[in-house]
Amino acid sequence: QTRTSAELIRAEEPVLAHNYRPLPVVVARAEGVWMEDVEGRRYLDLLAGYSALNFGHRHPALVEAAHRQLDRLTLTSRAFHNDRLAPFAERLAALTGTDMVLPMNTGAEAVESGIKVARKWAYDVKGVPEDRATIVVAADNFHGRTTTIVGFSTDETARRGFGPYAPGFRIVPYDDLAALEAAVDGTTAAVLIEPIQGEAGVLIPGDGYLAGVREVTRRAGCLFVADEIQSGLGRTGRTLAVEHESVVPDLVLLGKALGGGIVPVSAVAGRREVLGVLRPGEHGSTFGGNPLAAAVGTAVVELLETGEYQRRAAELGGLLREGLQALVGRGVVGFRARGLWAGVDVDPALGTGREISERLMREGVLVKDTHGSTIRIAPPLTITADELRGALGALEKVLTA
Ligand code: PLP
Repeated sequence: QTRTSAELIRAEEPVLAHNYRPLPVVVARAEGVWMEDVEGRRYLDLLAGYSALNFGHRHPALVEAAHRQLDRLTLTSRAFHNDRLAPFAERLAALTGTDMVLPMNTGAEAVESGIKVARKWAYDVKGVPEDRATIVVAADNFHGRTTTIVGFSTDETARRGFGPYAPGFRIVPYDDLAALEAAVDGTTAAVLIEPIQGEAGVLIPGDGYLAGVREVTRRAGCLFVADEIQSGLGRTGRTLAVEHESVVPDLVLLGKALGGGIVPVSAVAGRREVLGVLRPGEHGSTFGGNPLAAAVGTAVVELLETGEYQRRAAELGGLLREGLQALVGRGVVGFRARGLWAGVDVDPALGTGREISERLMREGVLVKDTHGSTIRIAPPLTITADELRGALGALEKVLTA
């Protein structure tokens, strides 16, 4: 007996931890940019799994790569080599202009791994006294949910109640080079920032900020670690968001879309002199670099090697920006956009971001609010111009009805 959406939502309450408050839609299947609920209603997906679905749901090339691998080999652990891992690392390093790759699973794990590598580098290479390394991060950051990471969050909901927090982090305002400059010193292992702050509301720093971070870190003799978990892999119109300022960080953190929306795949990619500090036994993961993940990740890299998705994001990004600009003063008070990624501040008089999201849901468009009256728009990069116009039309209807 199949259950209705309402029954399934009610069934979650007693058996699922309440750490999310999803929109009241129960998705049962999806293809491309479209999702379908239990009752067969169709929705345009403008969230794309927080950018994990950059290539849409069940992209044929990715599903095929997964199927082929499922029939051969899925897991070895890193106790043994597997035949898919070297090709994945070679292709990912080439795509990102790096030398080496450390494969993990989730975004938070990539961040934790980047922190470990930066600290090890600080002790082994920079000569920071043991246990004294610091890492400079930005206010309003979002890097994940582990205990160390929430300790340097400035979002009280994410942080409060989960202490004691790990020491060794300094928080400076985002997009403020003078504050960054003042915070780095001889103990600094790394500056860890998002090139665009996604969860904070798609906050895009001023021109020159990322190049400035590169310059400050170079002068201070510390690493620049770019968290591209949400901004990377095509979303902004480039493979990496740092490319908009021709910046090459020392470590790049990748996740989300790297697994094609099929399996969790994350990675730290970087220079050999930095990632090379890890020795056998010092870090690892049972699932990191597993052959199924590597096969899907390689297929993702192949899609990005064509440049088609980056191009689509850049081109359709123009359409998205124009559409949002036309709504400024008509329900939209401001927005920030780069590529197919926008944070839209809705007039609070029209409702909270949550209420706007629910109204859009009833129009067959799924988005997710963030902080207050901001909604974020990040469709699969496979969306067509007509579909995007349709989504903007739904937004206009909801805001001006
Ligand atoms: N870093 C950034 C910039 C993110 O946006 C996210 C997730 O939203 C993460 C890290 C954490 O990724 P995960 O949820 O896979 O742990």
